[in-house]
Formats: sequence, structure tokens, C-alpha cells
Amino acid sequence: MKKIILSLFIVLMFAGCALNLVTGRKQLSLVNESELRLMAVSQYKTFLSENEVLSGSNYDAAMVSRIGSRIANAISKYYTGLGKQSVIEGYSWEFKTVEDKAVNAWCMPGGKVVVYTGLLPITQNETALAIVMGHEIAHAIAKHGNERMSQAMVQQMGGMALEVALSQKPAETQNLFLLSYGIGSQVGAMLPWSRQQEIEADQYGLIFAALAGYNPQEAIPFWQRMSAAGGANQPEFLSTHPSDATRMRKLKEFMPEAMKHYKP
Ligand SMILES: [Zn+2]
Repeated sequence: MKKIILSLFIVLMFAGCALNLVTGRKQLSLVNESELRLMAVSQYKTFLSENEVLSGSNYDAAMVSRIGSRIANAISKYYTGLGKQSVIEGYSWEFKTVEDKAVNAWCMPGGKVVVYTGLLPITQNETALAIVMGHEIAHAIAKHGNERMSQAMVQQMGGMALEVALSQKPAETQNLFLLSYGIGSQVGAMLPWSRQQEIEADQYGLIFAALAGYNPQEAIPFWQRMSAAGGANQPEFLSTHPSDATRMRKLKEFMPEAMKHYKP
């Protein structure tokens, strides 16, 4: 049985790999992105109905929405200019802020972005929040959630198609989706992103913030504050976003490229 699962996994790995247009990396991509976007719309509605969403006139919510629109417009222009419109095809952006002490933020496929108020004491300013939102948006458009969802579909559902899984095991499938996109506020309820996904999200997140007119250099003090907020009472955002010497080194390595895109 183990052998069968292993060979199935290997077959799917090769059959289901796609070249990612953002990162240029081959990724496992068994799930149709448009199906994921559909699922995202319903999960997003459910999430908003179960959480305390700040009104658009709230100072912080207005900031989240301003940053989000600036990044969305900037990357739309950027990828159109590169002839890679398909990267953001089918995106219908929305930016919400929820009252929740969890240190978290996420972006679903299709551009549904949520920031938790627990993140704001650490970001402290608009530029740092743009760094985080750029990072989360980069996870989405680099299809990291799809990659995780695809891995989970192989490991836990034997490579079942999403549509089939949703009709046969709706609760488990929805749970996999939430886990794959880092949605939730319970410690331990989120899958960590892989190191490679984190590095990619940092790399492209810096560029997206810069393209939107935010100084990417704010990423360094922000991740230092994030690291200091850890310790005994480690926020889950940090536990899923390992902050270490490697991250700092990589951020500094990516900075010159990001600065090329920065026009204050
Ligand atoms: Zn991340």
C-alpha cells in the first residue's frame, strides 16, 4: 500500500508540475486555480461572517485598503508590462481588517486579503504593513497555497480531484484549504510555509511594496520587531514565518533589486 501511494505520489509529482510565471520555479500544481478561486470566495464570505470586520471608515481599515489598492494596481501594471497578465488573471481584490489579537494576515487566491488587528502593534507604520501585505500577496500570486493544497490532496486524499473531494469530503477539504492558506487564529492550526516559499514571498513582497511606492528597506526593522515579539509568547504569525539569520541575510541580498523598483 505504501509503495502504491509512493508511486502515485511520484507520478502526480511529474504530471502535475507547472512552471510558475512569477518565480520561474517548477511547482506541484494539481488543483485548478480557478476552482481554488471559487472555493476562496465562499470561504472568504464565511470568514467575514464569523469575524468582527472593521468598517471602511476605521483608520486602520482605511490604511489596509489603501495599501492593498496601491499594491494591486502596481503589480497589475508590472505584470502587464512583462506580458504576464495571466499571473493576476481572475483576481478581484478585496482588503479587510478584522478585530482579532492574532498576529496574522493572509491573501486567498483571487485576491481576498485580510489583516488581523493583532499585527498592527508590530508593523507600527504604513510602510511596514505594506511589507507584510506584499509578502502575503506574493504567497498568493506565486501560487504557494495551490502548491500546499496539491501536496495535501496527494498525501491525505490520494490525489483526488478537488471537485470530487469537495463533494465526498467537504469538511476535510475545506479544512485543508484553510490550512493551506494560513487562515485562522489558533496556535498550531496553521501549516508552516516551506523555507523556499518564505524566501520567495520575501523576495517578491519587497518588489511589490517598492512598486507601490513603499520603501522596501522598512522590511529589516519590521522583521527585527517581529522577532523581538517572539520569545515565550511567540505569535503564530512568527511561528509560520520563521524569522532567523537566513531571512535577514536574504532580505539584504534582495534589497538592491527591490530598490530599483522603488520610486518614493
Ligand atoms: Zn510567509
